[in-house]
Amino acid sequence: MLHPENSEKYKGLTVNSGVEQPSIVNPYLKRGRFKRRELSVGDMVEGILKGNVTILSQAVTLIESVNPDHQAKAQEVIEKCLPYSGNSLRIGISGVPGAGKSTSIDQFGLHVLDRTGGKLAVLAIDPSSERSKGSILGDKTRMEKLSVREDAFIRPSPTAGSLGGVARKTRETIILCEAAGYDKIFVETVGVGQSETACHSMVDFFLLIQLAGTGDELQGIKRGIMEIADGIVINKCDGENVDKCHLAARNFRNALHFFPAPDSGWQPKVLCYSGFYGLGIKEIWDMVYEYVDFVKGNGYFAYRRNEQSKYWMYETINEHLRDSFYNNNEIQKRLAEAERAVLAGERTSFTAANELLEVYFNKK
Ligand code: GDP
Repeated sequence: MLHPENSEKYKGLTVNSGVEQPSIVNPYLKRGRFKRRELSVGDMVEGILKGNVTILSQAVTLIESVNPDHQAKAQEVIEKCLPYSGNSLRIGISGVPGAGKSTSIDQFGLHVLDRTGGKLAVLAIDPSSERSKGSILGDKTRMEKLSVREDAFIRPSPTAGSLGGVARKTRETIILCEAAGYDKIFVETVGVGQSETACHSMVDFFLLIQLAGTGDELQGIKRGIMEIADGIVINKCDGENVDKCHLAARNFRNALHFFPAPDSGWQPKVLCYSGFYGLGIKEIWDMVYEYVDFVKGNGYFAYRRNEQSKYWMYETINEHLRDSFYNNNEIQKRLAEAERAVLAGERTSFTAANELLEVYFNKK
C-alpha cells in the first residue's frame, strides 16, 4: 500500500525505502586482528637488539611487574641481553626537588647527543613514587625538548617495592637499554634519603646539582652525599644569582678539602651553570669526559663496575632472603610475640632473632 505521504496529495514529500548501512562495528576488531600477540623471550631479545622502542618498553614493563611469571620472563630477557650491555656511559644526576633536574637534563641530553651522537636513555630512581602513586621523576612531560627526540628514551621510575627493589629494577633496565644501543644513560634521582647511594651504585659518574644560598652546602655534608659526588654543579647561576653561586662554589670547594681523597684518585670539581639559559653546560660535560678518560686510564672505571656487579649480586640475595623470611607463615605467626617479649625485657633482641632464624632455617 502506498504510504500516505507518497500519495498524489502531498507532492513535495516522498519516503523511499533507504539503503543498507554498514555495521558500526569494525570487522577487523571482530576477527581479533588487533589483538596483541604475546612476544616470546626470543622475540623480545631480538626486538631489543634491533633497538625497537616499543619492545624495549614492553620488556621494561615486565621488569617492573610484580607478577612472578613476568618476573621470570624478564630475568630470561635480561640474561640474554647481558652480553650486549655495558657499552655505555652511565651518569647519575641528583638534586633536591626544585634544584632544576628536569630543566638541566633536557639541556644535558641535547648537549651530549649533539656532541657525541648515539642514543640517550633517561631513567629514574624515585622511592617516593610508591607513596605518591605516581612518579615525580623521569616523566616525559618534564623534559620537553628531549621527549620529542627519536634518539632519546625516557622512562619514569619503577613504582613498586622498597628502595632496593626500585633501584634493582632501574639497574636491570639499564642492561636492556644498553643492549638496545643506548650508549648514554642518565639515572635521575631525587636528593632525599638513601636514593643517592642506590643511584651511585649503578653509575660511572655521580653529578650532584646544588643551589646557592639554601644552606644545602651543610646538608650535603651532613648526609654524606658529598663523598659520593664526582662533580658538584651549582644551578641557576644567572641574573642576580651569579655572585651567590660563585660564593657557594667556593664554599663547596673548601668543604671538599676536608674529605679524604676518593678511591678513584679524581678530585671532584665544583662548577656553576644555568640550566634554564643553557650557560656552562659544555664545561660540565668537559668535566665528565675528563673524568672518564682519567678513570679509564688508571683502571678505576672497570674496577667500579665490577664492584657494582658484586654489590648487586649481594643486594639481590639479601632482598630475596629478607622477603622469604618475612613472608614465611611460621615467622609471621611468631614475629609479634617475639617483639612483645623483647619489649617486655623477657628476651634479648639477639636471642629472639636467633630463635626466629632457627625456626626459619629448620622449616626450610
Ligand atoms: P626539578 O624539580 O629538580 O626537576 O626542577 P625543575 O627543572 O622542574 O626546575 C624547578 C624550577 O626552577 C622551575 O621553575 C625552573 O624553571 C627553574 N629553573 C631551573 N633551572 C633554572 C636556571 O638555570 N635558572 C633559573 N633562574 N631558574 C631555573
